[in-house]
Amino acid sequence: MDVKAYAAPAPSAPLEPFTVTRREVGPDDILIDIKFAGICHSDIHQGRDEWGHGIFPMVPGHEIAGVVSQVGANVTKFKVGDHAGVGCFVDSCRTCENCLAGHDHYCLGHSVATYNGVEQDKTTPTFGGYSTHIVMDENYALHIPESLSLAEAAPLLCAGITTYSPLRHWNVGAGKRVGVVGLGGLGHMGVKLAKAMGAEVTLISHSASKEADALRLGADHFLLSTDKDAWKAARYSLDFVLNTVSVNIPVDRYLGLLRLYGVMCMVGMPTDPLTVHTGSLAGSQKSLAGSGIGSIRETQEMLDFCGEHGIGSDVEVIAIQQVNEAWDRVVASDVRYRFVIDIESLNA
Ligand code: NAP
Ligand code: ZN
Ligand code: ZN
Repeated sequence: MDVKAYAAPAPSAPLEPFTVTRREVGPDDILIDIKFAGICHSDIHQGRDEWGHGIFPMVPGHEIAGVVSQVGANVTKFKVGDHAGVGCFVDSCRTCENCLAGHDHYCLGHSVATYNGVEQDKTTPTFGGYSTHIVMDENYALHIPESLSLAEAAPLLCAGITTYSPLRHWNVGAGKRVGVVGLGGLGHMGVKLAKAMGAEVTLISHSASKEADALRLGADHFLLSTDKDAWKAARYSLDFVLNTVSVNIPVDRYLGLLRLYGVMCMVGMPTDPLTVHTGSLAGSQKSLAGSGIGSIRETQEMLDFCGEHGIGSDVEVIAIQQVNEAWDRVVASDVRYRFVIDIESLNA
């Protein structure tokens, strides 16, 4: 079926109307009528080919929330009318060590990215959520709790799971002091989730104007990265730092915020390599780590956690026709705190 979409025709070219041909609904597939698609900074990195090897035309979008409108003959997990979500991948090899262990987001074989990837035939390009419909295997779709609106739930599919997974992995909870760096799409979810897990949260930002929002979103403290005195006072105070910033930050300086055995986890993915002095780590046996999205199983766990705790994203809903302007505003750190596209606007 041919469906309406918006695509970047070439690296850094403005997004424009495009038609995607979706496959027929197979026995294990579901058809989702997409209602909302979040704008992740990764859409911009890829649409502007900052990570290289981009496949164009590119229909971005891996924070998808919609309603199931058709199910294949073998489908058991979804029925027509269910609220469904799609994150960063729509299939994986299912046979490698990591897939078998339930860590399908770290598939060692062929993983199918929701967009800017290729299907299992390793040829057919995939197209993401800036479109009206998607057809996909039911095993890689998620149930969105009915208590969350689809608009506020869409960003959970990437920003939510990307922050939830490392917070869980490093056992963030009561008695832990956590720093979240950057108050954007990922950062605002990191604050909400770390707080709901019981941690004491410090939001670290380069934008003085975000202090009130940081505290409203649940942070206990706000640290302005340019405030030298406040920074000095915060040294050796944190157990865990989650860095969500989309450009490189001076990591040595941030490692100084950690206590003995502290961990700094990188989820922001800037283009350039970063430099770090081993002395910043060796001094107090600190760890510098990374984390990428989360498994399908953990994404469902995160969605259920958000449903129970009433946690959604703070969104600014836009029409698809505003997408190019929205991308520029994301790069300028001018989003409060996630743009979500109302997909109905594709029919305008
Ligand atoms: P975002 O909404 O643009 O947020 C990034 C935040 O970084 C901004 O709000 C800003 O926070 C800070 N920042 C931006 N430019 C800065 C600068 N020049 N100097 C200092 N701070 C700056 O982006 P996002 O969607 O949350 O994504 C963040 C990063 O995570 C991107 O690189 C994205 O590709 C990556 N990502 C990784 C994964 C993964 O699996 N690891 C998944 C999704 C996204 P303040 O104004 O508060 O300083
Ligand atoms: Zn993303
Ligand atoms: Zn695999």
